[in-house]
Amino acid sequence: MSSAAVVVHSPEYFCDIGPHVFPVEKFAMVRAHLVNRREIAAGDILAPAPAPRADLLTAHTPEYLDDLDAMRWTHRTRMSELPLTAEIVRAYKLAAGGTTLAARGALERGGGINLGGGFHHASADRAEGFCYLNDLAVAVRVLQREVRIRRAAVVDLDVHQGNGTALIFHGDDSVFTLSIHQEMNYPTPKADGTLDVGLDDRTGDDEYLRRLDAALEAVWNFRPEIVLYQAGADPYVEDQLGGLALTLDGLEARDRRVLEGCARRGIPAVVTLGGGYARRLEDTVAIHATTCRVALAAAAAGARDRSGPPETPAASPAPPGRPA
Ligand SMILES: [Zn+2]
Repeated sequence: MSSAAVVVHSPEYFCDIGPHVFPVEKFAMVRAHLVNRREIAAGDILAPAPAPRADLLTAHTPEYLDDLDAMRWTHRTRMSELPLTAEIVRAYKLAAGGTTLAARGALERGGGINLGGGFHHASADRAEGFCYLNDLAVAVRVLQREVRIRRAAVVDLDVHQGNGTALIFHGDDSVFTLSIHQEMNYPTPKADGTLDVGLDDRTGDDEYLRRLDAALEAVWNFRPEIVLYQAGADPYVEDQLGGLALTLDGLEARDRRVLEGCARRGIPAVVTLGGGYARRLEDTVAIHATTCRVALAAAAAGARDRSGPPETPAASPAPPGRPA
């Protein structure tokens, strides 16, 4: 199966975090959901390598990375709400490598999907929440370092503000950070991103999509060369850690606004999963899978637009990475 989007996953995104509200088993479940429904072929899924230290240093400080490698509880790591083990640190390095690999693929093919990542609370020198390494920031900075892109946008639609991403890119006018989130929720205080939209408790589909449309206009006007989409499933009405009231249809409409909007404008888009703590784990998995399905369709439509008549071959080489 040839696709206009690269799909990335590692079985080692799963790591033992003990009894926890964060369902780390969801990564493999989303993968299985997509493969079982033939949305993607297992043989097409790329497995990332852990992000090398040089890549992590584009977004994080050496002191903080040293703490992670030594599994040390310090003022830099103690805001984490996860244990700190070698397996967990490796999972976060893999997620950063995965989002970077998906972003490289998106530049070549039009779309990239990391079936993980979106760890937007991690800042340059600090863990926070369920986030040790900010895969979104690492991917943007690595592509900028290689001069593959200059301008990037992070569209963060998790129910929680993307404070780590905002802090990392604060004062950097080459990166537009949009966060649309529930105002009265974690984190407190919020960080200043390029555009922050704090929504009232119980905001539903119509109001959400109206605010999203307005915010996306600002993103398109910025003319990013790539969009990294943090597609958190936690604005869902049944989420345990969220207080917005989006339905499954509303979340799919949200995904279409972002991903079809990118495809229409020829902007490569990269999906990361972000949060998701629905009372029923199947709902979280279904929301993420829908995002991926929308991303695959949008990237395919974008590729057709670029290649002209349908009989024109649009094949492009796969990016580096070994099959999963
Ligand atoms: Zn969240």
